[in-house]
Amino acid sequence: MKFYVLTIFPEMVETMLRTSILGRAEKNGILEFDVRNIRDYSLDKHKKTDDYPYGGGAGMVMTPQPVFDAHQAIVREEGHPVRTIYLTPAAKVFTQKDAKAFAKEEELILLCGHYEGVDQRVLDAIVTDYVSIGDYVVTGGEIAAGVVVDAISRMVPGVLTNESSAEEESFEGGLLEYPQYTRPEIWNDVKVPEILLSGDHAKVDAWRKEQSLLRTREIRPDLLKKEAPPSHGE
Ligand code: SAM
Repeated sequence: MKFYVLTIFPEMVETMLRTSILGRAEKNGILEFDVRNIRDYSLDKHKKTDDYPYGGGAGMVMTPQPVFDAHQAIVREEGHPVRTIYLTPAAKVFTQKDAKAFAKEEELILLCGHYEGVDQRVLDAIVTDYVSIGDYVVTGGEIAAGVVVDAISRMVPGVLTNESSAEEESFEGGLLEYPQYTRPEIWNDVKVPEILLSGDHAKVDAWRKEQSLLRTREIRPDLLKKEAPPSHGE
């Protein structure tokens, strides 16, 4: 799967995508990252990529021309339309389900906004999906793109060496994951739950399932409601 990221701060994105599990997946040829500097496409003599907002107000807005030209260059190279995500707090919040759906694409383009965001006209022209990472505002789409690309990448077969590790995680089956323990058996006077030392896989599985349910009920009861089948008359 190939990810294109359009940004005015490529170094922010490069570090996130080329380290650890994603970096290894790229070296192994499972993923490919193409991070492009929007500034390189600016026709302004000072390579400007932002300007004051019409109507006044604080901050700067990213201008349409360099964003559009950078996007067109990718589409021309690919030879076909490519699903294009704009990271923005003004969107539905990204979920694990979305990560799985996006992982079915061969290519994706992610557009990172900065300052006050991007001129709406270019968004209307190129964006297919608006994605938020949560109900808060971060300084730039680069951080959000790192989150979204990472979550999608983990759903691409071969990226995680232990495939089952994704299947048992939080949000799979609509539940949060059970607590995890490793060595030593006793740490800070607290012992690992006895059942995990029993070697009885069926009992361990049942315990984990129960812990998942308890945790979800306590921390995120909304997830349990989402999983409930629709009642009659709905
Ligand atoms: N003025 C914008 C607003 O109120 O919606 C916020 C701009 S924010 C300071 C700069 C950029 O960060 C945005 O253009 C967007 O790309 C990114 N961003 C901020 N919060 C985000 C979030 N929760 N999810 C995704 N992207 C976000």
